Amino acid sequence: MNIVIVSPEAVPFAKTGGLADVAGALLQGLSRTGHDAFLFMPLYRGVRGSIRPKEAARGQKIFMGERAYYFDILSQRNAFFISNDYFFDRDGLYGDSRGDFPDNPERFAFFCLSVLHATKILGIKPDIYHLHDWQTALLPLYRRELFTPADNAAAVLTIHNVGYQGIFPPETLPRLGISGKFFTIHGIEFHGNLNLLKAGILYSDRVTTVSPTYAHEITFPEYGFGLEGSLRWKGVTGILNGIDYDLWNPADDIHLKRNYTIQTLHGRAACKEELLSVCRLRDRSLPLIGSIGRIIAQKGYDLIADCLEDIIGLGANIVILGRGDRDIEQVLQRAAARFRDRVHVSTLFNEPLARKIYAGSDLFLMPSRYEPCGLAQMIAMRYGSIPIVRKTGGLADTVTDFNSGSPEGTGFLFHDADRNDLVECIKRALCVWKNKRDWNRLTRNAMRLRFSWEHSISQYSALYGSLVGRQRNVPQA
Ligand code: ADP
Repeated sequence: MNIVIVSPEAVPFAKTGGLADVAGALLQGLSRTGHDAFLFMPLYRGVRGSIRPKEAARGQKIFMGERAYYFDILSQRNAFFISNDYFFDRDGLYGDSRGDFPDNPERFAFFCLSVLHATKILGIKPDIYHLHDWQTALLPLYRRELFTPADNAAAVLTIHNVGYQGIFPPETLPRLGISGKFFTIHGIEFHGNLNLLKAGILYSDRVTTVSPTYAHEITFPEYGFGLEGSLRWKGVTGILNGIDYDLWNPADDIHLKRNYTIQTLHGRAACKEELLSVCRLRDRSLPLIGSIGRIIAQKGYDLIADCLEDIIGLGANIVILGRGDRDIEQVLQRAAARFRDRVHVSTLFNEPLARKIYAGSDLFLMPSRYEPCGLAQMIAMRYGSIPIVRKTGGLADTVTDFNSGSPEGTGFLFHDADRNDLVECIKRALCVWKNKRDWNRLTRNAMRLRFSWEHSISQYSALYGSLVGRQRNVPQA
């Protein structure tokens, strides 16, 4: 099959979030399994310097609304880059220090149109367009409306976080060259605005997201951010992301004081020693909790801030690494200043320190309000740091609760996003930590788990197979 992956970012070219990992892993993995996979993404300023591209096509002209735009296509093996300096030669992918770029709808609508032209020019006959997030979500509508497709390609849209939808004022519509007939409640209208993700949901053939539990959750108002009705109508398939087990490996991680495996777990003690001394925390005999992530309410960092004193009272130390919301950061930093030898907070992006935390902490805290998939908890388990997570989305799909009766537990789960539930769960975890036999079993269980990309790729592959040649379920405009 010819699979055209259309993504606003992809590893190793440009990354701001997990979607880049998925797009990159799909490109590599699908090619290995005998498909012809092609990636299309914008040529951002940062990408230009990091690739050695060939020129695939020059000076292509397209119309979007009343205006003509031009683009070139550069390529490096099976990755194709849409080049237009006016839209993409900027610092930042979606915005800069002043916020989101105001012309983001035009930038990514243009990207979708260019990809449709590019596949034609390059003679690629897609069986599947695999789209990622709102930036690529207009492609099925454009394809249906502005092209007379010779092929019978199907469109799969993967939503990486339904909290980001690409909502813009209605005046944007003509600039994107989209007819007013689509601006209805059964089309791309959303509370008087334009919603690009909604267009993708309606006009794609299949919608997926990055874990089975999140796929279910987003069809309800609590998690659907207003799109639950459209998602329920379309149906959502959940396919769990993987992690790269070579990239995240405590046996050869150069940032660790001592490398270790499941057979040499005592190596973790040296990593904990080092982490405590890097963070200037005292009392090595106490359990150490780590947490790494974007400091935002979605990730539950306001809850962590609320229960820091409880954590100290329960006799644990805590190390937090992340940046995000200034207000939450400040609360955490004030606590770190007050309990200098028990709490450490670093608001940097620092991968070496992240690796030391995965290896040196006993427990890993991730109390997300919602979590489409989550990588940090998978990495923590790979390194033998036991997750304490809220039972939601990908966290619920990757962590199994431990109680002394269950031999297969890998962490601790709690239900409600409130301080009481979280503190009770931490208490339970700290109790188990005191029993070295149980703790050892838990650590081994966690380290043995595998969430491989191969497994995800084979699920995507089966999904593509099920779509080829089928009748489609899209609304009539
Ligand atoms: P997200 O919603 O941000 O994609 P994930 O858990 O899926 O959350 O992935 C977060 C990734 O980013 C993990 O690999 C984590 O180690 C890394 N990370 C997050 N914040 C930091 C930071 N401040 N320094 C280093 N790595 C970080």
